Amino acid sequence: MTKNEYKTILSKYIPDKAVEDVYSLIIKNRVYLLIARERKTKHGDFRPALNGKQARISVNHNLNPYAFLITFLHELAHQLTWNKFKNKVKPHGVEWKNSFNDLLQPFFDNESFPGDVVKNLRKNSNELYYSTTADTNLARVLKQYDQENGLVLLETLPIESKFILPNGTKYIKLNKRRKNYLCVNLNNNRQYVFNPLAEVYFLDEK
Ligand SMILES: [Zn+2]
Repeated sequence: MTKNEYKTILSKYIPDKAVEDVYSLIIKNRVYLLIARERKTKHGDFRPALNGKQARISVNHNLNPYAFLITFLHELAHQLTWNKFKNKVKPHGVEWKNSFNDLLQPFFDNESFPGDVVKNLRKNSNELYYSTTADTNLARVLKQYDQENGLVLLETLPIESKFILPNGTKYIKLNKRRKNYLCVNLNNNRQYVFNPLAEVYFLDEK
């Protein structure tokens, strides 16, 4: 693949302003980047070079450009930390955090991210990181940049709203229990617990 072909592919997944620097990082660090199918449990991962296999970073194909870039840098920070310390340090310890912050800085400088994303990254990068399961402000802000598909976050619906899941099951939203919402399945009347960031369709029927 030529340099320009590689950059054209990258530009489908990350913000335009980031393409040049991400390409340089990939070449400089000999990154083997796999653009992966959607995995519900994670946005990406890093596999070190083991048993004769090359080190590899994977990122889910369906993330929005900012989430993709953050996930790529998150995993690249794992690769750089691994190269230096192997498994002698914690996966998201201070060495990884320093590396992640260093990697993010040029993308703040060239304005690859919108202001609200930068604000949350700066605030949070010392203590937490972006993951599919974390209920964080950063996750909320990033979700706003997902393509419009009619889905809304469960937490934004009023109590007693009816909603429908992408698989067609109907529910009614009840109260919060700890961090989650209790909801009743309208087919079988059973109660289920939902993450506040679950993506649902609002069902506007009385
Ligand atoms: Zn990680």
